[in-house]
This record gives sequence, structure tokens and C-alpha cells, in this order.
Amino acid sequence: MIEFLSLKDVNNEMALELKEAANRVIDSGWYISGNELGSFEKKFAEYCCVKHCLGVANGLDALILTIRAWKELGKLKDGDEVLVPANTYIASVLAITENNLKPVLVEPEEKTFNLNPELLKQHLTARTKAILPVHLYGQLADMPKICQFAKEHNLLVLEDSAQSHGASIDGKRAGSWGDASGFSFYPGKNLGALGDAGAITTNDDQLADVLMSLRNYGSKQKYKNDFVGVNSRLDEIQAAFLSVKLKYLDDQTARRRKVANQYLAGLKNTLVQVPHVVRQEQHVWHLFVVRTTHREKLQTYLKESGIQTLIHYPIPPHKQQAYKEFNSMSLPLTEKIHEEVLSLPIGPTMSQIDVETVISRINSFRA
Ligand SMILES: *Cc1c(COP(=O)(O)O)cnc(C)c1O
Repeated sequence: MIEFLSLKDVNNEMALELKEAANRVIDSGWYISGNELGSFEKKFAEYCCVKHCLGVANGLDALILTIRAWKELGKLKDGDEVLVPANTYIASVLAITENNLKPVLVEPEEKTFNLNPELLKQHLTARTKAILPVHLYGQLADMPKICQFAKEHNLLVLEDSAQSHGASIDGKRAGSWGDASGFSFYPGKNLGALGDAGAITTNDDQLADVLMSLRNYGSKQKYKNDFVGVNSRLDEIQAAFLSVKLKYLDDQTARRRKVANQYLAGLKNTLVQVPHVVRQEQHVWHLFVVRTTHREKLQTYLKESGIQTLIHYPIPPHKQQAYKEFNSMSLPLTEKIHEEVLSLPIGPTMSQIDVETVISRINSFRA
């Protein structure tokens, strides 16, 4: 079987170092908020070229806590509107509603699946206070345009970089474009821990300071609470794993690009539309997502050929039970995309032969 992604294979390549890291943490007797966290935060901040990185429990918390911190700082308040792509993973929208802000769902660019900067203006109201672009599937959104628009209209920008570790435009990486950025290190992400983990990156000292408290019960000094905070910390053992894995991230991205380029060169079936790449370095290929009007048939056919595929995502946020208030909205492009997308196997350890097999099976697919 050709697996969608073998995490076992990915982590196996550095198993010795991961086990050493685990042993180091076990032997240290210190398991939360210690040197491993500080050391990873420093390295990841350098990697993203930002002043601050703050580890948190997961990617959703990274987004929720950043918005929360802006509320504490008086930059956002209940009811403020946040422009967000309609076709994102639900976490991006949850981060907004969890804070009693209003998500304004914007249709994506058809070619890149990312937030369409040309549509921002028509959604702008007096209550619009922020933009939450998502670098979907690993490709950076059009940040030069989005940031320009934000600057003109005095909006905060919170990047959802959960799928795009290391993607860049003009050498400027995901996590360094917005006023702040949320990362997920969920095991299946391009930089994945061996459990849940996440981080916020920012150049804003004040924001970093508030976040430092919020993630730890609202406290910076033990038993002195400045905010009504939460417990959202990144464990030492996960930080130690992430430090190991960060060393290999760029190499793994290069290998993902190789798989993607092999797909792009080989896929010739006119029933299957391949993803659009703006620039090589802008895409880190978290997912390789094709579009077809024959999705169910293609997925079944591939499954019968021993090829595992997934759908990212089958139901858009505005059609979820959880968001009944948005169910009647009409977002035709978002809805069409959700009916047609199919994610092919991709990962740093996928072999050329396996990619070739997927290509040849898809090329002989008939509707
Ligand atoms: C994975 C993901 C998240 C959430 O990350 P978790 O660590 O699972 O909480 C948020 N946004 C996007 C786009 C994601 O892909």
C-alpha cells in the first residue's frame, strides 16, 4: 500500500537523535518550561527571522491566545470583524469565534486556494480590525498584497502558518509577515512534534510579554496573576524533539518539493487539475492537492490500486453543524473546491517509485 504519509518513516530517519533527546529530558528531572523550551523557541525564532517565539500547547491555542492577547492590549474587542478565508481548516475560524469576534468569510483565489486579496475591500466595514490569512496546503498567501491592504486600513494581521513552516516570498518566511503568526507542530505537519505542540512568532515585545503570561495561567511570576489565563504550555520533551526535527526541516522540504515536481511533470490526465505554484520557494508542499469533478470515483479507483488519499477538507466551516448561523451563506467557489479537492500521498520519505505508481494510475484513470 502507498500510505498517504508515514510518520513512522519520517521519524525513523532521526530515531536515534529523538531517543537521545527524550533521554536527556527524562534524566534532567525538569519537564515543563525549562531549557529545552527556551532553546527551541530561540532556534525557531531565528528560523523565522523574528524576535520572539512562544511555545504553546497546539496550533489552535497559538491563534486563540494571540487574539486574546490583542484584546488584553486593547487592540481588539468583542464583535470586531476578522477577514478569514472561507475555505480554511476550522481552527482558523474557531480562534475568532472563541474570542467573541466575528469571522468574515472571504472566498479564495481559485488558482492557489488562498485568501483573495482583491476581495478584501468589499468586505471592509467600520468594525473590520484584523485579517487572518491561512497559508493553505503549504503555499504562502499573497502576503505583500495582504500586508499592504492591512497597512492602508490599519488592520492587524495574524498568519495561520500551521501548514507552511519555511515557505517564503523574497526570502521572507511564513511567520514573519504578520503582526503575529500561529504555528502548529501537530505530528503530521511539516515540522511535527511527537504529540501536540504549537507556537506563536512575533516581533512585538508587548504582545510577546502578554502571551508569556496568558499561556501560563496569566502569570509571569509564580502565584501572581495579571490576566485570566490558561494552561497552554509546550512540554520540554516535545521542545527537545522539535529541536532535533528543525535541523532537518529544510532538507525535508526539499524532498517534498522533489515529490511535488515529479507529480507536476508526470500528471497528464485532463480530468485532474494539478495545483498552481506561484514560486518554488513560496510552497513547502504540506499537501499536494488536485482538483477533479470525479473525486469520489478517482478516490475509490486509487484506493483499489492500493493508494491512500485524503480530503482537505470535505465540509467548509460555514456548512458545519457547529456554525449553524453561517449555514445559509452562499460561498460558491469555496463550496465547489470542497467538492473537488483530493490530496495525493506526499512526504519527505515517499519514494520516486511510489510517486511514479501514483502518476501512472492517475494517468490511466477514466471517468
Ligand atoms: C493543523 C492546523 C491548525 C491547528 O493546529 P493544531 O495543532 O492541530 O491545533 C490550524 N490551522 C490550520 C490551517 C491547520 O492546518
